[in-house]
Amino acid sequence: MEHSRRDFIKAAGLAALAGATMKTGILSASPEGKEPFTLAPLPYAADALEPYIDRQTMEIHHGKHHKAYVDNLNKAVAGTALAGMTLEQLMAGMSKHPAAVRNNGGGHYNHTMFWKLMSPAGGGEPTGKIAELINRDLGGFNTFKEQFSSAALSRFGSGWAWLVIRDGKLEIGSTANQDNPLMDLSDFKGKPVLALDVWEHAYYLKYQNRRKDYIENFWKVVNWSEVNRLVGK
Ligand code: MN
Repeated sequence: MEHSRRDFIKAAGLAALAGATMKTGILSASPEGKEPFTLAPLPYAADALEPYIDRQTMEIHHGKHHKAYVDNLNKAVAGTALAGMTLEQLMAGMSKHPAAVRNNGGGHYNHTMFWKLMSPAGGGEPTGKIAELINRDLGGFNTFKEQFSSAALSRFGSGWAWLVIRDGKLEIGSTANQDNPLMDLSDFKGKPVLALDVWEHAYYLKYQNRRKDYIENFWKVVNWSEVNRLVGK
């Protein structure tokens, strides 16, 4: 019974999607990461990162905050010359785009990356290429961890801490609001390989004003295989 109900809901959803595709023809753009941008499900259950990140925070953070960035980005680019651009293309020319594209495009890009950078199987010390680069460029894992945590802790107000590759070298930095190192207008640039959201909405329910504890626990869920995937070969 439950099964057939689910099938019915699925079929109804597909029919609605098919209708939307025929009407607007825009859904075909999705696989290339263009408008309409979509909210991918979390790559794990909402409670999978407990006790470090609680279920309610994950549900609101992904289902409300990230969803709002996606919806508002779609509204901001609809019917403009920006419709049809990929997220990466939008980031690269951000100095020319309206604030709504900067805030919501950044928000969509950053959160999409952030969910995958955590995993219930994560934590511990990195191995592989990222471990080599951390040793070569940042004085080893403990020094790196201290510096990244400090960048996350000292970012005033809302923003993100980043580990990027720039000119072949790892660098640590942070950005305000939903800016990121791919935006042409950012002071801190590079190819992001690790990101930490330090907006209060990312931790306040569980940690209140204790951003430091949230950052400390982030290390227990970092998905180093995803970091290595982003680093490439
Ligand atoms: Mn966030």
